[in-house]
Parts: sequence; structure tokens; C-alpha cells
Amino acid sequence: MDECVLKIESVVKVFPGVTALKDAHLEIKKGEVHAICGENGAGKSTLMKIVAGAQPYTSGHMYVDGSEVVFHSTRDAEKQGIAMIYQEFNMVPELTVAENMYLGRLPQKAGGAVDWAKLYRDADAVLGRLKLNIGSRTRVKHLSVAESQMTEIAKCLTIGARIIIMDEPTAALTEEEIKILFDTIQDLKQRGISIIYISHRMDEIFQIADRLTVFRDGRYIATKNIRETNYREVVSMMVGRSVDTLYPRREYRRGELVFEARNICGKGVYDVSIDLHRGEILGISGLMGSGAIELSKMIYGALPMESGAIFVNGKKIDCSDPNRAIAGGIGFVSDDRKKEGLVLGRSIRENVTLSSLKKFTRGIRLDQEKELKHVREKIDRLRIKVSGPFQLAGKLSGGNQQKVVFAKVLETDTPVLILDEPTRGVDVGAKAEIYRIMDQMTRQGKSIILISTDLPEMIGMSDRVIVMREGRRILELSKEELSQEKLLAYESGGIEE
Ligand code: ADP
Ligand code: MG
Repeated sequence: MDECVLKIESVVKVFPGVTALKDAHLEIKKGEVHAICGENGAGKSTLMKIVAGAQPYTSGHMYVDGSEVVFHSTRDAEKQGIAMIYQEFNMVPELTVAENMYLGRLPQKAGGAVDWAKLYRDADAVLGRLKLNIGSRTRVKHLSVAESQMTEIAKCLTIGARIIIMDEPTAALTEEEIKILFDTIQDLKQRGISIIYISHRMDEIFQIADRLTVFRDGRYIATKNIRETNYREVVSMMVGRSVDTLYPRREYRRGELVFEARNICGKGVYDVSIDLHRGEILGISGLMGSGAIELSKMIYGALPMESGAIFVNGKKIDCSDPNRAIAGGIGFVSDDRKKEGLVLGRSIRENVTLSSLKKFTRGIRLDQEKELKHVREKIDRLRIKVSGPFQLAGKLSGGNQQKVVFAKVLETDTPVLILDEPTRGVDVGAKAEIYRIMDQMTRQGKSIILISTDLPEMIGMSDRVIVMREGRRILELSKEELSQEKLLAYESGGIEE
């Protein structure tokens, strides 16, 4: 059990503009489940792709069974017994389970023809060994997500994998399916296979891992035995850094009730109620799959609500699509600005006024003077760096694109704003600007619901935070109670409320 099968030493990975790994270390023992922990962007996936031969590294060393290795492809890694199950599956949907398991390695008869009988016999044997109830002749396109994943694991066995990497394997699985996965993992361990397991869910890690290694900002922090550590210690190692002064000091005294969502139910959201007051920033925090993003999309009409009701200033409003939600008083910045927020092939001017053209129309004529005046005013106010209102949105940097989205939202002039991941993909300068704009908007009486996986942002900007987990509202934390440790622990199920 103490045999070290894989060792990573001082690995550095530089992408143009980002150093994803600054100093990575890792030691994997035979037959262990080793969890990799770290916040978003810590470098976990990058390191795993390197280990699996899917990505080269800039410098450092990798050893398998004590000998140094250099991989030029996933094939090279597979030859050493290392295989990875990707977050996005990479099987051929039109082919059968067996064909996918032996893709590129189909058994052949003496004359070179494919030995189909042997293919299905071998596949059935491997599936049976894993106690999986999947037909080897089923086409992969007919499998559930969990079954596809199990098929990938079975495939790892067919290539003789001794180390299997699973990157967020449970993200798309139901509780029932997770149980099957964990049983399979136990089974693999018994066979002496090592599992490298990445998950955001602390409860899972403490359930199945033997050891864990924490990374932060691309650096190795520590390796611990599961029995010799606890949630709190792991989380504090993950977050480590202190909140800086990026966030404008917000002083908020609770104003009157502006918005209410009552008993919202829909896919992934179970009976959630929230209220929001004038000038307030309410954070809704949760990991992927917690329902926070889904809830927000139901409120602004981008996802269907099955039951529940939304009120703005005491009036029930229709949120069955985004335009109706806007008309009812709910503006939004979507987490996907390329898809839902901006038309990149159009000018700043068109983007800003797209959803508020009525304001500039007299009879059937568009008052272009007035429209341009508004757009110029927004460009100034938000300090958008552009040559002018006619520049194409697609030519701007990420941060400036996001400011255009804010300009558009301001132009629609709704009392409530929902911001889904408002600073994702923008640099730190633009982040500070966006926080300033948010602060300014609330001072002018707007109320904001903030959804973000950026915990420092959540804590730095929210007056109050509601934590969601598995589609449910778990608890509410006041500004004084907020800390990264607490948020992560509640979000991952590490502490019960
Ligand atoms: P994690 O899996 O821990 O969330 P990642 O390994 O995905 O982290 O990312 C680490 C850092 O490297 C991030 O800042 C990310 O933006 C950057 N990064 C990852 N892949 C690439 C890439 N192909 N090109 C440029 N930057 C990348
Ligand atoms: Mg990742």
C-alpha cells in the first residue's frame, strides 16, 4: 500500500498570459484514492491533463514506478497505465459500448478481420468484473450520463490502467448513481488501482479518499491523510489568501421590501423563497448543481418555473420569459455574456439600447439623437474604453464587454438586477470597476441579487448571503457571519446548519 506509483516534482505550466501551475508536487500510492482539492482556477485540471499526457508541461519532473517519464500524448500515458475520465466525455455516440471500450484496438482474427465475437465476450467480461449492468451491444448514445461514465471506467481497465483520474466525476450524477460510482471505486482499489479524484464536494472527499493534496493558485500546499485532517483545515488551506481591498466599503441600512420570490420550484430548485430590500445586495451562494444559477434563471425567465410566484413592489409579475421579466422590473446580467448578453457583431450602441428601444421611439421613428446621447452617457459613466458608440462589441476586451452588458441593463432601468457571475473572465482592474458600478447602482436605489462562485467577491460585495445546496435553501448568513471557510463548508455539506 505504501508503494509510490506516481510522483510529480516541481511541475510548472505556463499558458500565454497565465501561469497555471507554479510549483506542483504530488505522490500517489498504489491502491489509494487520492483527492485533489483547490478553488476554481487552482490548477487541478491542468495538472491532471499533464499527468494523462493530454498536455505538455513547461518544466518539472514526472516519475512512474520510480523512473522518469515524459509523455507526448495520452497514448504514452496509457502505456504507463495512466488514464483519465474527462469532464466532457469523449466516446463515439454511434458506436456500441464494446466498440468504444476497445476503440482503435478491436480484436482481430488471423486474416485481419475484426473478431466481433471476442470483442463482445471481452467487453462483457470487463463489465461483469465491475458488476455493471450495461449491455456491451448498446449504442453509447442510448446510455445515461452515469452509464457513459461507467463505460469510460471499464475502458480504462481494458487498457490496463493502474492509475485512473476522475475530474469532477459526480457533477452530472444523481445520488443513486454516485453510490454506484463509489462502489466501483472501492472495487478498483481492491484491485490495486489508484484513483486520483477531483471534486468540489468536501463530503464526497471525506467519504471515499484515503489522502488528499491541496493546491492554491497553482502551488502545492500540503498532503494529508484523511483521518488526520478535517473540513475546516482543508478549506482554510484551499482559500488561504486574505480578502483585499477590491471591494468598495458598502454601508447598507435595510430599505423597504422590493422583491419577493415565493416557493419557487423547477428543475434543480426545490421550494426556495427569498426576499430583497431596496439598495441591498443579496448573495446566493452554492457550488455547481446547488441550484443557485438555476433559481436566478427562473427569476429572470431564462428557465421555466414549475410553481411559485415572483413579486416586485408587491405586484405579482410574469417571469415566463426574459422580456416579460424585464417588463416586470427584473433586469439581469447572464453568466453567459456571449450567448445571452451581447451581440458581438453589433455596435456598442445597438447592444446598449437593444432591449430598451421603446424609450427612443416617437411614433414609428427612432430618435437617434436621444439614443446616442444615452449611449455616450453610459460609456462615460461606466468608463468603457472604446473609440465610440459605433465600435463593434466583439472587438472589446472581456472586461469592457461586460461593462457594455451593464450599460444595457442600466438602460432598461429595472428596480431589481440579477447578476450571474458578473466578473467571470474579466481582469482584476475591470473587476474593481464593476464592483464600483454595483455599489453606485445600489446607492441609487436599485437592489441586486448576486450569484457568484468567486467567494471573495460574494463576501466582499453582499450585505447578506443565502446558501444553497442540492436545490434547497440551506441557511442565511449576515455580513458579520460571512467567511470563506463557513461558505465553503456549508455549500459542500461539510457542516450541517
Ligand atoms: P481548476 O481545474 O483547479 O479549476 P484549471 O487547471 O482549469 O483550474 O486552471 C488553472 C488556471 O489556468 C486558470 O487560471 C485557467 O484560466 C488557466 N488555464 C487553464 N487552461 C488554460 C488554457 N488552455 N489556456 C490558457 N489558460 C488556461
Ligand atoms: Mg477543473
